[in-house]
Amino acid sequence: MTTKVALVTGAARGIGLATTHLFIEEGWHVAMIDRDGDELALAAEGVAAAKPFVYDVSIPDQVEAMVADVLAAFGRIDAVVNNAGVAEFGPIEQTDFAMWRRVMETNLDGVFLVSQACIPALKETKGAFLNIASISGLRASTLRVAYGTSKAAVIQLTKQQAAELGEYGIRANCVCPGPVRTKLAMAVHSQEIIDAYHDAIPLNRYGSEREIAEVIVFLCSERASYVTGQVVASDGGFDSTGVGLP
Ligand code: NAD
Repeated sequence: MTTKVALVTGAARGIGLATTHLFIEEGWHVAMIDRDGDELALAAEGVAAAKPFVYDVSIPDQVEAMVADVLAAFGRIDAVVNNAGVAEFGPIEQTDFAMWRRVMETNLDGVFLVSQACIPALKETKGAFLNIASISGLRASTLRVAYGTSKAAVIQLTKQQAAELGEYGIRANCVCPGPVRTKLAMAVHSQEIIDAYHDAIPLNRYGSEREIAEVIVFLCSERASYVTGQVVASDGGFDSTGVGLP
């Protein structure tokens, strides 16, 4: 039987690393992409079914080279998980253009560039895109003008992909994680935000990387073969309430 190949961006740690581990448990091979070469090398050490590739998803030339490299190594791509992301929070009036661009370059441009470059490979396999947005792309709260707007755009980009690429058998879905205690989140979640999430989330807790990975891998798998264009929140119920955040 052919071994399927997932390309996972931002795979050096956090949700991307948990996703890599779960794909491997389910028998896939994984192309682990990250711009942090040291952390990526550590994460990939001793993982026979995965291969690390050091690339920045926000740079067009690098993305072209990345896809060529992955295809040379594995020969196929069955799922593309656009997970690499950055978070910077701040009030609108203090969000300077440089910060806005840093967030957009990875969170939005990166998803567009990687997806576009992978379309020919996914046409071959009738594969799937899985884009990681956020509950911050579903609901507005203060401080998240750049981050939340980038994630709302990823939700729309997913729907565009599903609408346009369905005729090739390509599926596209989006996962919106609630808060998870990763390096990204802990750099921007103040104690006030942490407490507010606990109160606002019906399950009253943060999620784990593994809980997000379970939804990602399911949506990439054949088990979800008739699911496309969907936005799935894995968020302890946060999006179902109207409770606000600081
Ligand atoms: P993380 O910081 O632990 O991991 C992100 C990884 O992406 C890092 O290894 C980083 O080096 C890599 N990366 C960042 N920019 C890159 C680029 N331009 N090119 C290549 N690699 C790059 O963060 P995480 O929490 O695991 O986040 C994963 C995704 O989940 C992100 O898209 C994030 O926005 C989203 N998300 C996270 C949370 C949360 O609470 N942790 C909530 C909602 C959504």
